[in-house]
Amino acid sequence: MFVALGGSGEIGMNVNLYGCRGQWIMVDLGLTFADPTYPGIELILPDLEFIEDQQERLAGIVLTHGHEDHIGALPYLAEELKSPLYATPFTAGLIAGKLEEEGLTGQVKLNIVERGGSIELGPFRVSFVALSHSIPEGNGVLIETPFGNIFHTGDWKIDETPVIGEAPSPDTLKAIGDEGVLALVCDSTNVFQNAPSGSEESVHAGLLAKVAEARGRVLVTTFASNAARLQTIGRVANETDRKVCIAGRSLERILRVAQATGYLKDFPPLISFDEAMRLPKSEVLIIATGGQGEPRAALGRITGGTHDLKLTEGDTVIFSSRIIPGNEVAIGRIMNQLSDLSVRIVTERQAHVHVSGHPGRPELIEMYNWVRPEIVIPVHGEARHLREHARLALGHGVPKAVVQENGDLVRLAPGEPKKVDEVRVGRLVLDGDVILPADGATVTERRRIGYGGLITVALPIGEDGKLAGTPLIRPFGVPVEEDREDFIADATDAATRAYTPGKDDDALRESVRLAVRRCATLWTGKKPLVEVMMLQIA
Ligand SMILES: [Zn+2]
Ligand SMILES: [Zn+2]
Repeated sequence: MFVALGGSGEIGMNVNLYGCRGQWIMVDLGLTFADPTYPGIELILPDLEFIEDQQERLAGIVLTHGHEDHIGALPYLAEELKSPLYATPFTAGLIAGKLEEEGLTGQVKLNIVERGGSIELGPFRVSFVALSHSIPEGNGVLIETPFGNIFHTGDWKIDETPVIGEAPSPDTLKAIGDEGVLALVCDSTNVFQNAPSGSEESVHAGLLAKVAEARGRVLVTTFASNAARLQTIGRVANETDRKVCIAGRSLERILRVAQATGYLKDFPPLISFDEAMRLPKSEVLIIATGGQGEPRAALGRITGGTHDLKLTEGDTVIFSSRIIPGNEVAIGRIMNQLSDLSVRIVTERQAHVHVSGHPGRPELIEMYNWVRPEIVIPVHGEARHLREHARLALGHGVPKAVVQENGDLVRLAPGEPKKVDEVRVGRLVLDGDVILPADGATVTERRRIGYGGLITVALPIGEDGKLAGTPLIRPFGVPVEEDREDFIADATDAATRAYTPGKDDDALRESVRLAVRRCATLWTGKKPLVEVMMLQIA
């Protein structure tokens, strides 16, 4: 049995479950970042009710790699599942840091599995298979069951010169294929890319050329977790006689975990912000977070002038990353600020300064040929990616493909693979310290307040049930501005007129609410939320 509780029909929030003989294993437990349709909310988590209800049947949680869309929900949801975690050393280092931040060290059992190692979980035998990705230790997992083997790729690419870690071995993948693979559950992110992802090593020449021709300070922004990219940037700094300064907490964290688990050992020593500003400009290379336009990350604060590091005319900023769809506006804002400062901007459009971590079509086809699966199940994609991936597989010798979405319970064996049921799925939001349903009252109310504003109406009521004074009206976020006092007077009149004793309290409250809202619509064309309170005056 296979069911995704996240990540199928969206890019983000990956949660995959495999079931066999009454037991389950979970592969990945990720989160997604909220867009502005969730006001005041940053993180979105998967709703795990389906597995929480049968938590005693969950034999373990296997984590493929350390990206947020694969491990990000662990600090919020893993404790309740009471299931042990399994990850390779670098990923485990990142998870340990997250658990510690939430005070969960020891509450959640975290097991470290060597790269290439295997574990037994109920009827499943799970082996980690080293692949390349844009973070150290991207792993596929081979899941052996009495009904056949499943190869779950995680996020992957083929990189023969990955800069960090060894290149994935085609021989290992062919050997997995020789054993027979019932289903290949595979990354669909770049199924529309005709070109292969490209090697991390190839980025070096592009970056070196751009840094070498720069005369002022150079700032390179990239994803903090891309340790191989950090390695390449460090190497370019050495080759161009620049000293490295890093800006951003996530960069410090990754550097710490990477060095503790044996990576980035020869990364150049770091200089402080002070030193970076004191040295001649041509001797400084800054690595900063914030390449997706996040206003509070290092690059956003540097361009906004609220950081100790400053950029001035003649400096260069290199975006060594891809624009994640949805972030175009935020990144555009940063680029405009940079151009106001007369800073030169280099992106992957001007130079080869980035490669993707996900497989393009040629790599997907190569994977089918190595693993030779009976069935392909596309995951890690929106609906259009999943469908295109199924078409690609069927067109390249894979006999069957199952296009599923979050919540579809798919039976892989015995018999023909097919959807046999639908299970509950959904999204939760982390709002402050509270986890809530994404479609619940809090988010809905906040959205409505955001769109139309709020008006509170307080009605003083005497013992005789009549108004014992003037209604008090306060608009919040209603566009009345300098007409505010006139509007309040008009709305107060409307509320007073609508209050006609004789009806029950609910009916009275409703007529006042409608009268005040009608008044607000007349004044502004908006329909704000109106909250009426009746206060008994003794
Ligand atoms: Zn990833
Ligand atoms: Zn991912």
